[in-house]
Amino acid sequence: MANRANHLVLLGCGLLCAAALLCVRTIAAEGAAPGPAVSGATLQSPAPTANFPVASGARLAGDAKQTRFILDLDRTIQFRAFPLADPYRVVVDIPQINFQLAAGTGSAGRGLVKAFRYGLVMPGGSRIVFDLTGPAKIANSYVLEAANGQPPRLVLEFEEVDRTAFVQSLTPENRPELRPAIADANAAVASVEAAKPAQAPDSRPLIVLDPGHGGIDNGTQAAGEMEKNLVLGFGLALRDRIEKSGKYRVVMTRTDDTFIPLNDRVKVARNGSAALFVSIHADALPRREGDAQGATIYTLSDKASDAEAERLAETENKSDAIGGVNLTDEPTEVADILIDLAQRETKTFSNRFARLLMGEMKTTARMHKHPLKSAGFRVLKAPDVPSVLVELGYVSNKGDLEHLVSENWRTKTVGSMAQAIDVFFAKRLATAGAAK
Ligand SMILES: [Zn+2]
Repeated sequence: MANRANHLVLLGCGLLCAAALLCVRTIAAEGAAPGPAVSGATLQSPAPTANFPVASGARLAGDAKQTRFILDLDRTIQFRAFPLADPYRVVVDIPQINFQLAAGTGSAGRGLVKAFRYGLVMPGGSRIVFDLTGPAKIANSYVLEAANGQPPRLVLEFEEVDRTAFVQSLTPENRPELRPAIADANAAVASVEAAKPAQAPDSRPLIVLDPGHGGIDNGTQAAGEMEKNLVLGFGLALRDRIEKSGKYRVVMTRTDDTFIPLNDRVKVARNGSAALFVSIHADALPRREGDAQGATIYTLSDKASDAEAERLAETENKSDAIGGVNLTDEPTEVADILIDLAQRETKTFSNRFARLLMGEMKTTARMHKHPLKSAGFRVLKAPDVPSVLVELGYVSNKGDLEHLVSENWRTKTVGSMAQAIDVFFAKRLATAGAAK
């Protein structure tokens, strides 16, 4: 739905590329600095890339006072660059680019740049996110035409500044005008929704499936497998399975390799008055923290059930920082959510579904030794939608990874999840019927 909304915004703006620059969405979120594991992302876009500008090389030059970034292109492009605080980042929004950069590009920094990532943030729009070592300003930014045997280039020059100067560079005038774009996107969703009741109203329960990460945010990765691809494949298979029964409506937060901010994922569930929200992920343990295996099912709590759950929620909540989302705008929302958590019913249903899911999944999938946990996952915060986050397994564990890429394992696990959903709704409907 978010994708469709973006499309509408883009179409509404007329020019796909220009619109990508104008209609960049940022939504406030909490988060922290992205870790090195997700740096230097290579985008694997399923869309045909023939017509998009090609980026063939990227490099950093300079030192800790002044650092220059150069991107080699096959034609000139429009761009928009802006800084974001906490963590210090610079975001460059560009039209959709076919990145043909060497593997690992961006993972090693230089000077003021700790690392950078690149990839899709929406259909028609790519983004480069620089993690800075400290406060820095964009001293200069421009696109050069091809000249003297050099291809067209995008150039950014970063210059060290102090925190005060950095914060001043974030004045509203300097900030990208993102709010109207979000309003447009919401209006587009609303108009799509409003158009629906003209047809027969569909009273079947709505299930929102949320494959984690996407686009510029790869999630965890190991042995060449990226979490964003594994969980998308799983989500699509689960959607097909659930839809086949005809009993439910299913909406995906993403159906392709696009970055979706965490708040937007929650909005899809809330705007559609979803009866269930299932976020799908695959975890990884840093090598120094040993090996762990099996699937884990998480529900929301303001206090993590253990240290591992806390670490995981922190990692998953970094998604917005990785995607270059402005994290400073809506800091109060989290507090509101925790107040809303007092809405016991949602919590009860979330926990009930988590237990059902564990009961079904353990018949087909290897489960973690403590398979039910809770922590402060931002994506689970819809106060009125029962929500769980499933970590299908650890991409850092050899056995789990073999499962995660196995069609056979996926079919069986999708089957057990569909079964849990059936039992959950059968009970809910029975309860609702008895109440009448
Ligand atoms: Zn994840």
